[in-house]
Amino acid sequence: MEFSTTRLEQIAKLLAEEVKEQLAEKQGINEMEQMLRKLVKEAAGLGLRRAIEQGEERYAGKDVACHCGEQAKFVSKREAVLWTVFGKVNYRRRYYLCAECHQGQSPLDQKYGIVPGQVTQTLSSLLGVLGVEVAFEEASQLAERFLLFQVSDNTVRKQTEGYGSAQAQAEKEWIEKAEDEKALQVRERSMECRSGRIYASIAGAHVPLQHEWRELKTLCWYKVEKIGAAASQKHHRPLIGEQSHLQANDMKCH
Ligand SMILES: [Zn+2]
Repeated sequence: MEFSTTRLEQIAKLLAEEVKEQLAEKQGINEMEQMLRKLVKEAAGLGLRRAIEQGEERYAGKDVACHCGEQAKFVSKREAVLWTVFGKVNYRRRYYLCAECHQGQSPLDQKYGIVPGQVTQTLSSLLGVLGVEVAFEEASQLAERFLLFQVSDNTVRKQTEGYGSAQAQAEKEWIEKAEDEKALQVRERSMECRSGRIYASIAGAHVPLQHEWRELKTLCWYKVEKIGAAASQKHHRPLIGEQSHLQANDMKCH
C-alpha cells in the first residue's frame, strides 16, 4: 500500500511537534519512542473513528430499505463502541427504525461489518494467537505490553475460543476436502514417497573461520518409532522428560 508522501510528512511533523512540546528538555530516545507509540495509537483510534463516521455521508437525510420491504426512517444519531488494536473506539452513526415491523438498523454498521460492542477481527486474531500460546492471564499482560491498553483475561479467553473454533472449522473443511475422492488422489500421488511423521532437530555451534566466528548448523531429519518393553528395560532409571519408549531411526543429517 502506497501512502501519500505529503500527508505522511504532515503527520510526522505533527507527531514531532507533540513530542517536543510534551517532553521539553527531558528528551531521550526511550522517552521519545514510548511517547510516539502511545501517540500513534491514540491518533489511529481517533482516525478510525473519523474513517468510520465519514462513510455515513451517503445516508444523510434518506430513508433506508428495511428487510420487510418497507422503508425505515431516521430516528437519531447513536453512540456505539468497538474494540480494536488501537483500543476502545467510540463512534456515532445514524439509527433507523421501521414503523411496519419495528426493526431498528444502523446501515453504517452493516456496511463495514461492525458488530457494536465487539472486538474487531484483527484484534480478535491477535488475542487468539496469544491465548493459544500462553495462559490467559499472561496473554492479557502481554497484550497490554504490545497494544498499550488493558485487555481482560475473559476477553482473551473468549477470543481464543473463537479462534479455536475458526481453526476447527478450517480443519473440518480440510478433512472434507481430503475426503473428496479427486483431492485424495492428487494428495496420494504427491505423498507416494512419504509415510509417517518426519521430525527435525537443529543444533548450532560457533566455529572460528579465517577472519571471524560463524555459526555452523547441523540439521537432522528422522523418524520416530516405539521400541518394545524388553528393549526399553535396558535403560536405567529414566530421566525427567526422557521418552525411553521411543527411538529415532532413518536419520539424515546435513
Ligand atoms: Zn420493516
